[in-house]
Amino acid sequence: MKLSQYYAPTLKEDPAEAEVVSHKLLMRAGMIRKLTSGIYNYLPLGLRALNKVAAIVREEMNRAGAMEILMPTVQPADLWRETGRWDYYGKELLRFNDRHGRDYCLGPTHEEVITDLVRGEIRSYKQLPVNLYQIQNKFRDEIRPRFGLMRGREFLMKDAYSFDKDDEGAEKSYWNMFEAYKKAFSRIGLRFKPVQADSGAIGGDFSHEFMVLAETGEDTIASCKSCDFAANLEKAKVITPETTCRCDDEIPALEDIATPGKHTVEEVCEFLGVEPRKLVKTLLYIVDGNPVAALVRGDRELNDVKLRNLIGGNEIDFADEATVKKLTGAPVGFAGPHSLDKDVPIYADAELCHDTDWIAGGNKADTHVKHLSLGRDCTIEKFADLRMIEETDLCPECGQAIEFTKGIEVGHVFKLGTKYSESMDAKFLDENGKEKLLAMGCYGIGVSRIVASAIEQNHDDNGCIFPPTIAPYEVAVISLGGKDQAVNDKAEELYNQLISLGVDAALDDRKDRPGVKFAEADLVGYPMQLVLGGKGLKNGVIECKNRKTGEKSELPLDTFAEAFQQWRKQVWADWNLKM
Ligand code: ATP
Ligand code: MG
Repeated sequence: MKLSQYYAPTLKEDPAEAEVVSHKLLMRAGMIRKLTSGIYNYLPLGLRALNKVAAIVREEMNRAGAMEILMPTVQPADLWRETGRWDYYGKELLRFNDRHGRDYCLGPTHEEVITDLVRGEIRSYKQLPVNLYQIQNKFRDEIRPRFGLMRGREFLMKDAYSFDKDDEGAEKSYWNMFEAYKKAFSRIGLRFKPVQADSGAIGGDFSHEFMVLAETGEDTIASCKSCDFAANLEKAKVITPETTCRCDDEIPALEDIATPGKHTVEEVCEFLGVEPRKLVKTLLYIVDGNPVAALVRGDRELNDVKLRNLIGGNEIDFADEATVKKLTGAPVGFAGPHSLDKDVPIYADAELCHDTDWIAGGNKADTHVKHLSLGRDCTIEKFADLRMIEETDLCPECGQAIEFTKGIEVGHVFKLGTKYSESMDAKFLDENGKEKLLAMGCYGIGVSRIVASAIEQNHDDNGCIFPPTIAPYEVAVISLGGKDQAVNDKAEELYNQLISLGVDAALDDRKDRPGVKFAEADLVGYPMQLVLGGKGLKNGVIECKNRKTGEKSELPLDTFAEAFQQWRKQVWADWNLKM
């Protein structure tokens, strides 16, 4: 590829709406262009990076025994009605009608379509296991599309679905995909971590997210400094040390205190001159339509995923103002556990039984109570782990110190069980001729998000620093010949030589000033740059630069092929990659 004929319109300035570095650089380097909110065109350089990610993912899927198919983007509503997700999925599902008025959606994921595809075709245990995947554009009408390719509305995903005859087989398929993901992300050159993830109402411990470690990540990971425990914050267990329960300690009688206009924990604590840890926070939620109260210490955060899982619910949301008023008899900010509507079950964080004599909301306007005893004054449905883990907590697996890091979710593996085969009646005959439901797993990789995360993880002030495996081109040959045709001819000869060696090379044969060419090569982030000038040609050398380390050296022109391959090996090694 010759840059003189290439379509890669660069920008001098960061686009105003771009908040994260990958979005800025992808735009500035002319790799993507926005069509409309969350929807992008891939230009030649961007598409090459995207295709390289897809190729590695495809290879590792095939190696793991999965088979590629391609399913449609447009999906009929009837399938989604079978699983109940037509109602449940919400506004992320883009719905529309055809000319006959039938309902359709753009596929945000393909559990329904794949289950429909195999039901009736997989009839016997002898046909199992099967793993089918595709690399295909998804559409999700995200509430806040942002960060360019990181959270688009239309984006490229690899989604795989496994079918097994029993739970044991499904577990094997799960770990098979888990290993394939590790191989794929390692081969791409990403620094990543698999972390325990919430598997929602389906239950079980079988869900992991693969996180690319980067400051700009939207997710927070709690990981142990000593063992390999790592979990998404919403999933991380908190171990409350076993001490004696103090709920039934004798304390003075419950007493109202006036707290005019003091709604928040901070306001109440300041007003009463107490520490937040002496308060009980009462949070009112609606879980699948029913009101629920949850209690945490004043200095803690409630983890609503834990609450939802404890109750076995699907959908959880804060109760609105009117509901709070109805259940507590007070405006928002004064809820307490002692005189709530008796139909509201109260769940308390495990830690709350280790202290007593609490301050809490009074269930009256501008009122709190003191001397609250959870044993004497309330009916607690259950004490359980309900709070968010904090960085000062200890590892739930080994008890050592933990740390928080930011991550970008690039993959998700999920053991589904029979959720979809049951609702869609996907059965087979087992060894004994008995009908059984297919045991399923689903496995996603954000192919386009990986391009963005690779840049989030690897960039500097000058631009992208692509791993050699997914760079649009692995090498840029930059000719500084200008009017000196001998230099230009030699640069083109070396470029052709690289092509014949099977190296993905680009030739910067444009008439621009050297400074412009260097800046653009850095901006695009070619991992290897070769620069030929008049002086080099005369001395029989070409300058080479490793974009990652910034190291520069020279390669001899007379033994160019061998010298290049050796240098290339070194560059790959700097990425911890094998050629
Ligand atoms: P998130 O929590 O980031 O919204 P998700 O849990 O909805 O992700 P999955 O349904 O598991 O994501 O989809 C599989 C993969 O697709 C994700 O791991 C992620 O890499 C990618 N992905 C999901 N949503 C988007 C999006 N809006 N833009 C780009 N990639 C996405
Ligand atoms: Mg999502």
